[in-house]
Amino acid sequence: MIIVLRPDATKSQIDHVIERIHKLGLKTMVSRGVERTIIGVIGEEDIVRIQPLEVFPGVERVVPILKPYKLASRDFQKNDTVIDVGGGVKIGAKRVVVMAGPCSVETERLLIDIAKKVKASGASVLRGGAYKPRTSPYAFQGLGEKGLKYLAKAKEETGLALVTELMDLRDLDVVCRHVDIIQIGARNMQNFNLLKEVGRTKKPVLLKRGMANTVKELLMSAEYILAGGNFNVMLCERGIRTFEESTRFTLDIAAVPVIDALSHLPVIVDPSHATGRWGLVGPCSRAAVAAGADGLIIEVHPNPEEALSDGEQSLYPENFDRLMGDLRAVAEAVGREL
Ligand code: PEP
Ligand code: MN
Repeated sequence: MIIVLRPDATKSQIDHVIERIHKLGLKTMVSRGVERTIIGVIGEEDIVRIQPLEVFPGVERVVPILKPYKLASRDFQKNDTVIDVGGGVKIGAKRVVVMAGPCSVETERLLIDIAKKVKASGASVLRGGAYKPRTSPYAFQGLGEKGLKYLAKAKEETGLALVTELMDLRDLDVVCRHVDIIQIGARNMQNFNLLKEVGRTKKPVLLKRGMANTVKELLMSAEYILAGGNFNVMLCERGIRTFEESTRFTLDIAAVPVIDALSHLPVIVDPSHATGRWGLVGPCSRAAVAAGADGLIIEVHPNPEEALSDGEQSLYPENFDRLMGDLRAVAEAVGREL
C-alpha cells in the first residue's frame, strides 16, 4: 500500500506515520515530491489494514496497491525517474541515450578504437561484456577482470560512461569499481540473489527482460532492486522467444509504451539481441525511439566477421554513424533529443 500525505503535512506528522509503520515491523520507502510526500509500505501489509492510518494527522489517503510491484509502479512515483550515470549522462530525461560497443571486450586496442568511433557518432555509453553468458561452455567466455581494465582504459581515453554485465555475485565489487552501469542479463533476470545484492548498491542497473518473461515479471525483478534501496534501475526490452524463426528473438516493441504506462523507470531497447541480424538493427532502433524508448543499446564492431561473439548482429561503425543521423530525426519528430 502507499500512504499519500496532505500537501501541508509537517515533518513531524510524516515522521510519526513512518514510526508507526516501523513499529508494526514493516519497512517504508519515502518519495518526497515537490507537492507532497508518499510513503510506500513494504512487507506483509495485512497488519496495516487493521490500523487506522487514515486518522493520523497529515495523512490524506491510504491506497492499497493491487499490483504486485509497488516501488516500480507509477502509483508510487508519478514522474519519470531520471538516472545520472555520471559524466553528464542522464537516462530517462528528454535526451535519448545511446549505448554502443562490441558484444565482448576483445583487445584493448580494438575497444578503444570502437569507443572513439561510437563517441564521435554521438553515443554516450560504451558497452562491452567481460563476463559472457554463452549458450555453449566451449564458446568464448569473456576476458573477466582484464576486460574490465580495458573498459576503464577506454573510459579514460574517451570519457564515455561504461556498462557491462555482472553474472556472478563474487564479481560485484570489481565490476562496481570499474563501470558506471551494471547490466543484469536476460538469463539472470530472475536470479533473485543477484538482484538483492545490486539493490544494496547505489550503482545504476540495466535490467534486461528475460527471453521468456512477461513485463509483469520484469517489473517484479526491478522491485527486488528497488526494495533494497537502489532506485537507479532501467528496464531493457531485448526480445522474447516466440514461434517466429526469422529473427533471433521477437522484439516486443509494444512493451515500451506498456512499461512506460506502468512504471516511472526508464526503458531501453536492445535491437541487436532482439533481432540477431545487423540489417534489422536500424529499422528496430528507429521504431524503438518512435515508440518512446529512453535509450538504445547497440552492438558495434569494426570487423564483425572476426568478432568473438555476436558478429552477425553487429553494425560496422559507418553504419552505426548513419543510423545515429536517422535516429536524431526520429527523436526530434517525437519531441525528444538525441
Ligand atoms: C549482451 O548484452 O551481451 C547479452 C548477452 O544480452 P542478453 O542478456 O540480452 O542476451
Ligand atoms: Mn551480444
